[in-house]
Amino acid sequence: MRISLQAELGDFQDRHTIYVFARKMSFLAVTLSSVVILLILPPLDWMGVLPVPLADGVVYGVVLSWLIGGAVSSVLSVAGHAMHQLSVSRAEFEQLSRTDVLSGLLNRRAFTEALERADGDACLAIFDVDRFKAINDRFGHACGDAVIVAVSAILAAAFDGRSVAARLGGEEFGAIVVGGSQAQRIEKVQSVCARLAEKPIAADNCVVAITVSAGIAELGGGRGKAGAYSAADKTLYLAKALGRNRVVHENEGLHPGWRRHLPQDAAAARAMSADCDEARLA
Ligand code: GH3
Ligand code: MG
Ligand code: MG
Repeated sequence: MRISLQAELGDFQDRHTIYVFARKMSFLAVTLSSVVILLILPPLDWMGVLPVPLADGVVYGVVLSWLIGGAVSSVLSVAGHAMHQLSVSRAEFEQLSRTDVLSGLLNRRAFTEALERADGDACLAIFDVDRFKAINDRFGHACGDAVIVAVSAILAAAFDGRSVAARLGGEEFGAIVVGGSQAQRIEKVQSVCARLAEKPIAADNCVVAITVSAGIAELGGGRGKAGAYSAADKTLYLAKALGRNRVVHENEGLHPGWRRHLPQDAAAARAMSADCDEARLA
């Protein structure tokens, strides 16, 4: 009984549970008070201290027990309603504190929590819109905001189910890509970046073509989440240094193979190579 009461009381977000609980309690109050009255009245009558005949006493007693039941029900309903409102506000507040206001995606705090829970066959991808400042400068901040919203919608649709997407701040987004092989996860991130760059985004009276860079690090394997985050961040930096509009996996960034991304032109390749070395050392 105690356990079931605790379980019912714990679920204040469900209005129906509160009213069922209040009704049960008032029924219990009516039954208990009726039993107590019916047990007490005969001895009182026998002792001659009952001011009314026993039959009348029983009627008054039953009426009184129903009044007690009604009072219990009302008090519990009012208290339950207040707790329901509190519980709903708390849930809404909790939801708001985990949501990015502009995009509706999870915010950095919620993403960090999701990252802590992630394990096994999963990777962390950090996306950053290329040359976003130029979009703001050319089309205005409202247009920049609209681009952020459009990118967020594509990321939310692409990373649903067990995967999760979040806005980390500005024009930077994170995704925890869960399931499949490493190659499939990389392919998934590449396909999302390709979709974002595929056709210009039409929003807030502007049409903007964007490209996105992404850095990927593997989760699991005994490395801490902070280490994975730092690896993805460095890899994103490398993707930027390599010329943007590309996805780089941390394994690619760790061996000299990344140099194949460099342009044919020797001077440009030298400049970019210096940038990349800096990114790799950062
Ligand atoms: P890169 O390719 O190296 O990423 O260049 P970038 O211009 O995208 O990067 P940078 O960090 O220089 O600029 C990001 C800009 O995003 C600067 C900031 O004013 C703008 N920004 C940050 N938050 C918001 C936002 O919520 N809305 C809009 N419209 N702009 C934002
Ligand atoms: Mg950017
Ligand atoms: Mg950025």
